[in-house]
Amino acid sequence: MGAAAAAVPVAKPAAGWLAGTETGSACSACSSRKIRVLFSATDRLYGTTDKIFRIVECIDCRLIRLDPVPTPLELRDYYPHAYWFIPEGSAADRLEQWYRRFVLRDHLHFVERALRESDEEGIVLDVGCGGGLFLQMLSERRKVRVAGLDFSLDAANTAWRRAGIPAVCATLSRAPFAPESCAAITMFHVLEHLYDPPSYLDAAHRLLRPDGRLILQVPNAACWQFLLLGERWNGIDVPRHLTNFRLSDVDTLLSSCGFEVLRYKHFSLRDNPAGMATSLAPKLDPMARRMRGVVETPRQRLWKDLLYVSLVCASLPFTLLEAACRAGSTIMVEARKKL
Ligand SMILES: [Zn+2]
Repeated sequence: MGAAAAAVPVAKPAAGWLAGTETGSACSACSSRKIRVLFSATDRLYGTTDKIFRIVECIDCRLIRLDPVPTPLELRDYYPHAYWFIPEGSAADRLEQWYRRFVLRDHLHFVERALRESDEEGIVLDVGCGGGLFLQMLSERRKVRVAGLDFSLDAANTAWRRAGIPAVCATLSRAPFAPESCAAITMFHVLEHLYDPPSYLDAAHRLLRPDGRLILQVPNAACWQFLLLGERWNGIDVPRHLTNFRLSDVDTLLSSCGFEVLRYKHFSLRDNPAGMATSLAPKLDPMARRMRGVVETPRQRLWKDLLYVSLVCASLPFTLLEAACRAGSTIMVEARKKL
């Protein structure tokens, strides 16, 4: 870490860009160690640590990443226990579960179109399946074999016990599936959490049928929200997001791993408005309140949830506009193997 970089204050990108320096960790895309520091930040959402990280941009390929890279042991502590939602019986839980099902339909439509167009038979594998709600909804709507995969044993357990989804605890590189056994592989908000994103894409390439489909979703570091909000943008999620992709980065990565892109989507009903609401008021985010162990009566919880949903609705026009200009805060991609 250079002396100039060590003195970086917390600042927005526009104000805080520094001249090039070098760091100990290599860029996962081009292996360069030359970086430009954009700003410094800590775990604003869940408060799992006070450690300050830098968000840096590779000087050679412009990929944006977290620096320093946490060790696997550190990273484990940055994921709070029960990182996914388990509904119980309260009114607030029922409301939240209804909302989650409602906004996930957007993801379902995208995947169902990909399945229709590829017409391959095989497993639909959701990588980073969490509690399994997406696959549960997909199997309610279509006759399709589904499987979940998550590197959290608790998540795989929850998917199986609560949602009835067969799930394994593994990394994709060591997933117990035969080559060319998958009709589709979905990775919603997975790549940005990985030390080595190409290893997951290589594994997906091996597991997919010849005309199978890979569906990815990542936050978009070229969105207007990042430009406007800087380190307060929810999409960088320090220190859990190790890489912050732009659309061009995703394109390059997919191409280098043998995929061609068929379709992009710049708006996600589940992620874009809620992401903006969380950026503006992180303490209202229902998941963040749970993770931080905020003590609330059922009535307080319901009111805070309703306030949060109002903020999500108020964020809708802006997020639709940025997505219409191809600068939405997430990117969904459908890709297949290059012929
Ligand atoms: Zn690079």
